[in-house]
Amino acid sequence: MAAFVRPPSHRRFGGGSRSNPLRSGGADGRKSFHAINIPRISAGSEERLNATQPSRAVQRVSGWFYDGQRFREGTVGWEEDVVVEIRSGRTRRPLAEGLILPGLWNAHTHLGDAIVTQELKGTIEELVAPPHGLKHRVLAKAKDAAVIAAMRRAMATMIRTGTTGFSDFREGGLNGLKLLYAALAAMPMQGLALGRPVGLSYDSREVAAILRASDGIAVSSYIDWPRDAIEKLAADARRAKKIFAIHCSERVREEIDAVLELKPAFLVHMVHATDADLERCADAHVPIVVCPRSNAFFGMTPDIPGMLRQGVELHLGTDNAMINTPSLLREMEFAYRVARMKGGVPAREILEMALRGRRLANPHATSAIRVGARADLVILDLPGGRSGFASIVRASASDVRLVVSGGRLWPAPSPSVRDASMIRGPRRRITRSTR
Ligand SMILES: [Zn+2]
Repeated sequence: MAAFVRPPSHRRFGGGSRSNPLRSGGADGRKSFHAINIPRISAGSEERLNATQPSRAVQRVSGWFYDGQRFREGTVGWEEDVVVEIRSGRTRRPLAEGLILPGLWNAHTHLGDAIVTQELKGTIEELVAPPHGLKHRVLAKAKDAAVIAAMRRAMATMIRTGTTGFSDFREGGLNGLKLLYAALAAMPMQGLALGRPVGLSYDSREVAAILRASDGIAVSSYIDWPRDAIEKLAADARRAKKIFAIHCSERVREEIDAVLELKPAFLVHMVHATDADLERCADAHVPIVVCPRSNAFFGMTPDIPGMLRQGVELHLGTDNAMINTPSLLREMEFAYRVARMKGGVPAREILEMALRGRRLANPHATSAIRVGARADLVILDLPGGRSGFASIVRASASDVRLVVSGGRLWPAPSPSVRDASMIRGPRRRITRSTR
């Protein structure tokens, strides 16, 4: 649906095909089949967007950059939306200095839930299960403009905290997707928009329209759906060469073979999975997205070390925006601590969980900073070198110095006490926008 929100050319949301490497960069040449009228809303003053346009000159940051294995001291340069330079040694006038990571990828969000702002009481069923959970009742009554504003607020939180891509489970059928695209307009982010039917029933015309307007279908849970209906949903997504994704074994253990028969691109949660269930996922090469803060809210803990022992590929997501703020910095810290309670995993593994979700959008993407990769970077004011991974699992929003998404800067860099002492020579003139 890129054509309707007039996004920059790198926008990946909607209308794509998994077999078409449209998400690997540049113009994708997609045709849009389903005209969606985006409601026009203006951002409130506190939400005013301040990303700069990509620069045609090479821009550089210095410090310790992640090469996919470790942190190396050097300089990373990009031009427009592509990394064009990686070298050892620091540049004299970097836009920012610090620990340099690829932009984080939030592998599971429900951004629409940001519309619910009250303190939450109740069980999973009472809060998030369709069709009568609190979020569904609030979303059903909310005005479109309010949902768009809430999602945009959540997106701004993501990008401020270093996330440049995400996979959203969007409720509300075709209209729900329309609101997501409206919220995304002018936001420098990319990702996957996964829609679902309005109700818990199958209507081939509705599903076809959703698939034309999205990257795929993502539903609440196998046990919420009539079996034949969910099988048809998954088959339609497969035929359209799009993603089918599903929550699994969150409230109770679900029958893993039945779920894997739907050929999901990934599962979310698996808190109640057995070792055998996890092994089946590993064998089927189906990644699992874990959302430990969301699980903890409902009194549960994912067994991250146990999942890794079974050979499962793990991703990290922040789940419902009404339960957790969509900051992967907070999720990484929490995941690391929860993993320690079950025996522990290296901090590097936690970082990889917050990076590798981008492969769902682009199978060729890596979590290394490389020449030719999209210029998605986050620069943190933290110790590097061998301490880099440990720094990351303790990082907070206040450590973020600069976020670069598709070559656009967010926020525009401003000098800090630390920078002023680090940067020698004349400061490069930087185009700044106001917040
Ligand atoms: Zn979820």
